[in-house]
Amino acid sequence: MSELLLVGGTVVDASGERVADVLVRDGVIAAVGTRLSAARTLDAGGCVVAPGLVDLHVHLREPGDEEAETIDSGARAAALGGFTAVVAMPNTTPPLDDASVVSSVLARGADAMCEVVSSGCITKGREGKELAPMGELYALGVRVFTDDGACVDDPAVMRHALEYSMSLPGAVVAQHAEDSSLAGGGHMHEGAWSSRLGIPGRPAEAESVIVARDIQLAALTGARVHFLHVSTAAAVDLVREAKRRGLPVTAEAAPHHFALTDECCAGFDPIYKVHPPLRTASDVDAIKAGLADGTIDAIATDHAPHAPEAKERPFDQAPPGMLGLETALALTLTELVEPGALTMRQALAALSWQPALIAGIADRHGGPIEAGRAANLCVIDPAAAWEVDANRLASRARNTPYAGRKLTGKVRHTILRGEAVVIDGTATR
Ligand SMILES: [Zn+2]
Repeated sequence: MSELLLVGGTVVDASGERVADVLVRDGVIAAVGTRLSAARTLDAGGCVVAPGLVDLHVHLREPGDEEAETIDSGARAAALGGFTAVVAMPNTTPPLDDASVVSSVLARGADAMCEVVSSGCITKGREGKELAPMGELYALGVRVFTDDGACVDDPAVMRHALEYSMSLPGAVVAQHAEDSSLAGGGHMHEGAWSSRLGIPGRPAEAESVIVARDIQLAALTGARVHFLHVSTAAAVDLVREAKRRGLPVTAEAAPHHFALTDECCAGFDPIYKVHPPLRTASDVDAIKAGLADGTIDAIATDHAPHAPEAKERPFDQAPPGMLGLETALALTLTELVEPGALTMRQALAALSWQPALIAGIADRHGGPIEAGRAANLCVIDPAAAWEVDANRLASRARNTPYAGRKLTGKVRHTILRGEAVVIDGTATR
């Protein structure tokens, strides 16, 4: 029998908040209350005890690019970031378009430091032409289907995928909304900064035309659509209107799309290159407003590790993407909660229970924190101030754009299936 008592924290979940101790026994929450005792205790004084965070969007790079990240190293970074579940994106080599590849990712993730949920491709080879064997992948537990890294450009293929997903209860088609022909050849947001720097741009419309189109396809088919890493004010407006009409659409935003702008590219440092690109200050304001009013359901990292030599290439040759797992919570607290744009509970909704629902894992992640539920939890010290040190990240890669940035709020403990995998900010295995 394993037993653990989280003492003196404020328990926050979808149902509210209260000061209480949380007793964990054999992987399950045994009791929430006062005057509990256990053989082993972890201090949670001054901290928030929340359901473990859930990241809808991570690139673990395995199989194929283990130099940048592995399932193990990515899951370790996730646990240190407070995540108890991550959805692995399918743009590996080979891609996750085949039952044997998905099975091997799930097997590799089985004893990782967070639950590794596999996405599956929408189309074979992520080529946007022929549907992947979605039914076979679904049978393995896949619920999130995406060609992430690539947009499903062909509307007929997207319609076909949505229609097929209707036969798979709980499945969702997640779109990387960037029209390939409009965004192609661009390396940053198309606007005043791209003109000044002479870097070819990716216009905001590359995102909004696909979001507008796929909202119409959701209405046509009745199928769920999830928009990955929404980055523009226009896309936020479209999703808000679609939700007002009652359409089954959800959206996520990445921390870099509320914490950074295209001006960051002024020094030609490819650390700031990402798809979709960093946008303008008014887009950042729209992302914040979308999170505040619930238009954007989730904060997802788009954690995208790259080996150092790849990110040392010139801006136009470097691969897009940046690390996110170990800084997402602190960026959310520092950029959104501290200034009053979101409450702590809204932030945790976007980082935990709402993404758990979208990913189809709400039976075991995202709370509520009550007896009988799986003990996937994180304990957050909201007042801890720290500075990001790229050399102290658990990720194999070093491509964080936040090195040297001072943040407030830190993960203290992470509990996975009842086991403390992070204690006082340190991984236990
Ligand atoms: Zn993407």
